[in-house]
Amino acid sequence: MRVDIITIFPDYFGAVFDYGIVRRAGAGGLVEIKAHDLRGWTTDKHRMVDDRPFGGGDGMVLKPEPIFAAVESLTGARQAQELAGTGVRVVLLSPQGRVFDQKVAGELAGAKQIVLICGRYEGVDERVVETLVTDEISIGDYVLSGGEPAAAVVVDAIVRLLPGALGSETSASNDSFSDGLLDFPHYTRPPEFRGSRAPEVLLGGNHSEIARWRRRRALLKTRRNRPDLLECAALSEAERAWLAEEEPEIFRDE
Ligand code: SAM
Repeated sequence: MRVDIITIFPDYFGAVFDYGIVRRAGAGGLVEIKAHDLRGWTTDKHRMVDDRPFGGGDGMVLKPEPIFAAVESLTGARQAQELAGTGVRVVLLSPQGRVFDQKVAGELAGAKQIVLICGRYEGVDERVVETLVTDEISIGDYVLSGGEPAAAVVVDAIVRLLPGALGSETSASNDSFSDGLLDFPHYTRPPEFRGSRAPEVLLGGNHSEIARWRRRRALLKTRRNRPDLLECAALSEAERAWLAEEEPEIFRDE
């Protein structure tokens, strides 16, 4: 996969992708990530990327010309329509986009090339949204100063889903959200720490009991922290009945 990030602050990405799974995926040839300076696609003496908003009001708006030129030079396409069926996605990071989640990450992980456009100031000229991008994506209902941190989040979540990016192929399928639930709780050595003991079942080595305990804990943790997820998760009738009865005290007792 190739990832191109269009930004007015390419240095922001200097070390962001130099750690852990993303670094290894890059070194192993699974992904090539490049940050490009939007100013490189300006044609005027002052390399202007922004201008005042039509209609007045606060702040500046990123101009369309350099963004369109950047996307055209990186993808060969002048508008989103031309990218249908090519495996190329042009993503605008925006608080107004559809909210990024594990499902969207999985969808984008299947792309051949992703171009990420980072907004700044009041955002980008709306013609970018209307004709240039295939996706407008938000990382949550809050407003950042720029699209760069959002791009870093999106790239990290996508890269760990690329086949071979994780040490074990099953790791991603155990993560939170993969099966519609949060992950089960994890413990490691020492078995006892500051008077608190790791659950005995995990120390015992009975794999079917461990699997049952983990599934139940994932269900309980999801009910406690993200009950909204349970509505769509694939639960058996028995699990739904058990969950309806179970008291939260089990968190402290087990
Ligand atoms: N005026 C815009 C609004 O209220 O919708 C906010 C612009 S914001 C200050 C500047 C840039 O940060 C946006 O163009 C976008 O690229 C990025 N950004 C801010 N919040 C974001 C979010 N939740 N998800 C993704 N990108 C975001």
